Amino acid sequence: MIVELKNDVSIAKANELAIATKSILVENEKNILVTYSKVKELPKELEAYADAFFVTDTDLQLASRQYKKENASVKIGDIEIGGNTNNTLMMTGPCSVESEEQIETVAKFLIKNDIKVLRAGCYKPRTSPYSFQGMGLEGLQLLAKMREKYGIKVITEVRDYSHIEEVIEYSDVIQIGAKAMYDQGILRRCGKANKPILIKRGFGSTLQEFAQAAEFVMSGGNENVILCERGIRTFEMNTRFTLDLCGVAWLKDKTNRPIVLDPSHALGARYGIADLSRACIAMGIDGLLIETHPDPSVAKSDAAQQLDFAMFEEMNASLKAVANAVGRVMI
Ligand code: PEP
Ligand code: MN
Repeated sequence: MIVELKNDVSIAKANELAIATKSILVENEKNILVTYSKVKELPKELEAYADAFFVTDTDLQLASRQYKKENASVKIGDIEIGGNTNNTLMMTGPCSVESEEQIETVAKFLIKNDIKVLRAGCYKPRTSPYSFQGMGLEGLQLLAKMREKYGIKVITEVRDYSHIEEVIEYSDVIQIGAKAMYDQGILRRCGKANKPILIKRGFGSTLQEFAQAAEFVMSGGNENVILCERGIRTFEMNTRFTLDLCGVAWLKDKTNRPIVLDPSHALGARYGIADLSRACIAMGIDGLLIETHPDPSVAKSDAAQQLDFAMFEEMNASLKAVANAVGRVMI
């Protein structure tokens, strides 16, 4: 149950009530208490202090449409997705920052194509400890340099808790990758960050588990959570993963969060990214994450799935019409 407290309830009192009712106090514009969802009746201790209360079916609570019917808005500086907008935000860049020259070439390409968000990893969660692990702090500093120089926003991923402060400091959006989706240390720390958090779905996670990862961040006080479907593992081995569009329909219906899709990691090959992107946009989503590299043949990670600039431009030119057909605006 979610209980919105009256405005005149002090923080000290709200803390006391949280202990008495075994709930989490979420301090925001409106202070709220969130109890286990099995609580269906307003606890007696809260009767005098509650403004309103909401019951949801499961522990999908703050992110649930049963609590907030409207689409939640998330702002990345002056860029807005969700809320009352019909924006579909393009976020693109290489899988990894590899050098200053490489990332600057990409930043210039983004400017040329009027794209506002650069995505690139600096701490890569590789399946092998022997392959390229990312440029780490040096990569983050290069991203910050690109932001300064070109006025773009950057999204980059936190791989583990050891460098979380750096990632929070240097990025405009913090990406929690598929492999880190269950890391509660990362989720809880992001709950205290004042930047948007993009959570990718673990490839072996149910939709409920995925949506509940957002609850860890939101119940920490950070409402700015974006959910990203990036493919799940199925029996099918001809594609890297299986992009779960049924899951996207579920997330749109059951959650109030902005939804972003990442066809690059789902398919794992560049040939179908344009088709998949058009299909994703036709679903009326809030954003796309696409991997693009100046020369994918020499990419240090995910070489097979990254688009080159010509492929990206050809795809991008076709997205606007699809977006318009479903009442969306590509930004
Ligand atoms: C990435 O975005 O480069 C990445 C590693 O993705 P995922 O966490 O979805 O595997
Ligand atoms: Mn990648």
